[in-house]
Amino acid sequence: MARKVIFLDRDGTINEEVRYLHRSEELRIIPGVPEALRRLRELGFLLVLVTNQAGIARGYYAEADCERLNAYLNETLRREGAGLDRVYYCPHHPEKGIGVYRRDCDCRKPKPGMLRRAAEELQLGRFENIPAGETVDRAHSYMLGDKRIDTIAGHNFGIQGILLGSGYGRTERELAAPGDYDAYFESMGEAVGWIEKRERDGS
Ligand SMILES: [Mg+2]
Repeated sequence: MARKVIFLDRDGTINEEVRYLHRSEELRIIPGVPEALRRLRELGFLLVLVTNQAGIARGYYAEADCERLNAYLNETLRREGAGLDRVYYCPHHPEKGIGVYRRDCDCRKPKPGMLRRAAEELQLGRFENIPAGETVDRAHSYMLGDKRIDTIAGHNFGIQGILLGSGYGRTERELAAPGDYDAYFESMGEAVGWIEKRERDGS
């Protein structure tokens, strides 16, 4: 079966932008986001987080810190019925990375490596409570984020890229070239309303 998936950026999209966020005390979920994610789940979307974490590459915090924060974020969302199905992060940076983290990887957005890996792992049955053999329904999947690297990563994976006005979104919108994103909304709630209508109308 083909599954509809919402790929989500983390910082500036789900939680307030904090430079090199890695402490759970500093995590602030953007108002309205849990409700929007819950609605997406009700509509049958899988939720997959894909986040660039160059702070790991730069040595500002460890992978364990990132994983702890991601787990805390997901527990918080789950309590609101808005849990994520899967979480991926890219710990690399092509120039600023230290040691093994200095890599021209294929996962750092705008490259689509994390989205591809999610599709592979979905097919292999590595998603909780989902049998093996499922695929991503690209015509009905979306990437949501506050930067052009997010929407372009979506395009590079063959899905719609929606830019949000949270985080760096307003500035990113001003800097964007035609075609960098498919739609812009001030909030995730508005984006979800648009997705719901688009899916219903079959456009
Ligand atoms: Mg972001």
